[in-house]
Amino acid sequence: MGRLRELVAQRSAAEREVLDQAFAFALAAHGEVARKSGEPFITHPVAVATILAMQGVDTPTLAAALLHDTVEDVDTVTFEEVERLFGPEVCLMVRGVTRLSKLQAAHQDRAFEPDWVAEDLRQFMMYARTEPRILLIKLADRLHNMRTLGSLPPRKQWKNAQETLLFFAPLAAHLGMSDVRTELMNLSWQYLAPQEFTALREELEQLRPRGEALASLIGTQLRGALAADPLLAGLGLEVEVSSRVKSGWRVYQKQQQGMTLSEIVDLLSLRVIIKTSQPSPIADASLCYVVLGHLHGLWQSRTQHFKDYVGSPKRNGYQSLHTVIIGEDIGQLEVQIRSQAMHEVAQRGILTSWQGGVLTRPLGGPQLTARLTQALGEILDANASDALSDMQEQLGAKVMTYTPQGKRIWLPKGSTALDFAYSIHSNLGRHAAQARVNGRLSPLDTPLRSGMVVEIIKSEEAQPQPEWMNIAVSQQAREQLRLQLRELRGWRNLPEQAGYQLLRQELLARGHRSQRLLQHKVLEAVAYKLLGLRNTDELVIALEEGRLVAGAVADAVLELGE
Ligand code: MN
Repeated sequence: MGRLRELVAQRSAAEREVLDQAFAFALAAHGEVARKSGEPFITHPVAVATILAMQGVDTPTLAAALLHDTVEDVDTVTFEEVERLFGPEVCLMVRGVTRLSKLQAAHQDRAFEPDWVAEDLRQFMMYARTEPRILLIKLADRLHNMRTLGSLPPRKQWKNAQETLLFFAPLAAHLGMSDVRTELMNLSWQYLAPQEFTALREELEQLRPRGEALASLIGTQLRGALAADPLLAGLGLEVEVSSRVKSGWRVYQKQQQGMTLSEIVDLLSLRVIIKTSQPSPIADASLCYVVLGHLHGLWQSRTQHFKDYVGSPKRNGYQSLHTVIIGEDIGQLEVQIRSQAMHEVAQRGILTSWQGGVLTRPLGGPQLTARLTQALGEILDANASDALSDMQEQLGAKVMTYTPQGKRIWLPKGSTALDFAYSIHSNLGRHAAQARVNGRLSPLDTPLRSGMVVEIIKSEEAQPQPEWMNIAVSQQAREQLRLQLRELRGWRNLPEQAGYQLLRQELLARGHRSQRLLQHKVLEAVAYKLLGLRNTDELVIALEEGRLVAGAVADAVLELGE
């Protein structure tokens, strides 16, 4: 609680009073209960509120964070009581978080399934529309739970790590909270690939001294150049140059894509943060370009790597100049340039606001709610959530597709429209001619991704083709297809087989000339219904090998065929 009190020291006495009351209430409610880690339970809500306070979140949200587990975990605490003591705004948030926890608890003890995560995500988002600030509480709740994940059984560790990677980390990214996102990614990865994590972390740690040396070298030269620039005199311009090693998780992802460590150019990068001691008459953006100019004057730049997120900010508000400089003394190095205000936004995303170089924090209720509502809308919008489904595809072994009626069809990763057809019905697969994917006519080999709506267009003329074996990926589709192909082959070649000829001669000898009796359909029925065989193939082979007498089979054929 000490750290939290420090973080809110600037807030009004009334606000601090509310937080003290919420803390006292939560402490009394949770009492002596301990977490799995052995710590008193109260450390959890305090940690959650502290994470949010560090992000500059408003006071009602912090109060709700302190109270977030009281109603769910303590029988004697009711929503009515929370509302009476802390008002409807705080109570609505506690209600929301409790509801989301219940949603997740419903399948808590089952194995991880990507479709539950997807379903949770949807319900989460729908519910969060009533009070988007509950997303922030859930995010901080998850972050603290991930920090203390070590005390849970391994199966739960794995499941929580997967969920975090699929849902909470992208959510943090979408809200522009890059520091929370990076921490979530690294924590998840640590549990999902522990050996790789440890090995890579050691390797990356070794880069740090070189990064610090580069930051010092470049900082000194850059400061010299800036000090000599008469245009900047009197601004009290300072640059803080620091080095950073690419996050282990990102490196691991690149390695999974087949890149080696030496091929990743931005393992080490520098960050230049511009500060002015006087209120500057020059806009932050212009200062970034001035500093970039000096940097490019000192070292050669690789223009093809230059990215201007100052002029064109990212969707979540991120602003920075990214350049790659090269030199004998420095090798090849990515440098990011941003102002202090841009830096705050990069770390805290939509929770931060600045006007005329002045940071406004904490962001008040209505303003924060408006921003979260907008972000939420973007996540629910199919296009913006591409990043989410990409991750689902990458990590989950399955893709989630839909029928035009909205029924969900899960398929193994890499499945095509043909797999979709067979998963609905073997007969739909047999006669599949084309697909309509997201409303567009597409061939059967179209690869499917999560979220696609697929309709199969049938044609009675369409028949399984041998090359379909190269298109079908799922076990189910391949098995059915194999059967169907064998059936077709058997039927086509039937007249050439000795067993078939024996039967035909027997029927001719009895005066039956009609081909109708020798149709595949009839023989199949005879084999299956009367003789207990699996298919026509077996029938013909049994005849040929003498295990069945042609006369007996002819009797059966006449019995069924007439
Ligand atoms: Mn909690």
